[in-house]
Amino acid sequence: MEMLSVVQARQAEAVGHKVELRGWVRTRRDSKGGFSFVELNDGSCLGNIQVIAEKNLPNYESEILHLSVGSSVIVRGEVRASPAKGQATEVLAETITLVGTADPENYPLQKKQHTFEFLRTIAHLRPRSNTFGAVTRVRNCICRSIHNFFQERGFFWVHPPIITASDCEGAGQMFRVSTLDPAKPPLKEGQIDYSQDFFARPTFLTVSGQLEAEIFACSLGKVYTFGPTFRAENSNTSRHLAEFWMVEPEMAFFDLNDNMDLAEAFLKRVFGDVLTQCDEDMRFFEQRIEPSARTTLEGIVNSEFRRLSYTEAVDLLIKSGQKFEFPVAWGTDLQSEHERYITEQVFKCPVILYDYPRQIKAFYMRVNDDDRTVRAMDVLVPRVGEIIGGSQREERLDVLEARMREMHLDPTAYWWYLDLRRFGTVPHAGFGLGLERTVQFVTGMANIRDVIPFPRTPGIADF
Ligand code: ATP
Ligand code: MN
Repeated sequence: MEMLSVVQARQAEAVGHKVELRGWVRTRRDSKGGFSFVELNDGSCLGNIQVIAEKNLPNYESEILHLSVGSSVIVRGEVRASPAKGQATEVLAETITLVGTADPENYPLQKKQHTFEFLRTIAHLRPRSNTFGAVTRVRNCICRSIHNFFQERGFFWVHPPIITASDCEGAGQMFRVSTLDPAKPPLKEGQIDYSQDFFARPTFLTVSGQLEAEIFACSLGKVYTFGPTFRAENSNTSRHLAEFWMVEPEMAFFDLNDNMDLAEAFLKRVFGDVLTQCDEDMRFFEQRIEPSARTTLEGIVNSEFRRLSYTEAVDLLIKSGQKFEFPVAWGTDLQSEHERYITEQVFKCPVILYDYPRQIKAFYMRVNDDDRTVRAMDVLVPRVGEIIGGSQREERLDVLEARMREMHLDPTAYWWYLDLRRFGTVPHAGFGLGLERTVQFVTGMANIRDVIPFPRTPGIADF
């Protein structure tokens, strides 16, 4: 007797093997001939395995004929070639042990199609749905591919802190970490006295591990971070979460072109891996969620990303004559509608925009010789818009200090960051990829809340 997962038992090679399978009942059909078909799923793949239960099973009358959707069972039997189409194998049960019942009156996940909004309210059962199971497997494949890509290229995975005292870019967007009593915080001159807080200073959940990654890039060469990040931005969109996962590679001796080359190779590798390793799930997304999901990925793996400067993009948008909700002018940040227009309508492929106006970008981005733009880049993809944001970092101490003053940042608070430019400074670059945006793009799922197990958005942290 071999213990197999459903994905293994569905392979033709399993025919003839005596196996044990464990999972949950998806459907049961009783035939007049005195036997029943039980569709079993264990999450190992999208497809179920068909189990044939004959009436000579000792618990046929008492249990099998009452098996309801969602019940858990252990099946022992022999894998046979299946005469039915759409499946190579089936299992003729020798025993079926009912492990846990699921009352059909109350089990919320019945056979019918549920809305994603409804499924979010049952986050504890949602992974048993076809869609969320497929999302979870694809998400796992993407994560494995991310690690493989960097590990094969000699990058080291580093772990920046989640609690941080450096409120670098987005002071307003940070979640505060505090153990002070919110009803009676200690005060000093009318302000909350954070010197009495747990860390004796204001602390927050990280919005990015980049600055810490720079420390390690400037000693180990090529590194990446991969972990949760937090943003308290109150944007109730289909592409923003308050807690999301980000991958941030950072490379010493890389300029912006090296950075773009890496980002392009990286995305192609991840998309290619999903196509080869998640074929069944991707066919499901193509049929049920987004007809272009698979062909879009195939197109991307085999084509060049289009690269164009911010200035060229603004010209193109203005000349397009297209009506946008937000007007376009050089010096303003591009909105999602502009990004999507460029990648979906104009080029119909991923686009890397680079060299953005300095006034809309962070202090650490390298200033270009024109003095008006910085070496920033965003990778835009159809349907999602920005999937990667990155830059070459400013490695010149004097320029960096001037930029910080210009942006009203206190250089003494960043003494360690400036030290990297004082001692053996090097050109370096990196980017951040949002994991959920990637899963969203790959699967074609419309809402980012449906590609993370437990979404955190304004007003919502139910589970
Ligand atoms: P956007 O303009 O789309 O809000 P951003 O410019 O604030 O994004 P970056 O700071 O460049 O984002 O972060 C790098 C990447 O992290 C983005 O390209 C995106 O893939 C992802 N990301 C950023 N904010 C969020 C969020 N709130 N939820 C999910 N993913 C996010
Ligand atoms: Mn960005």
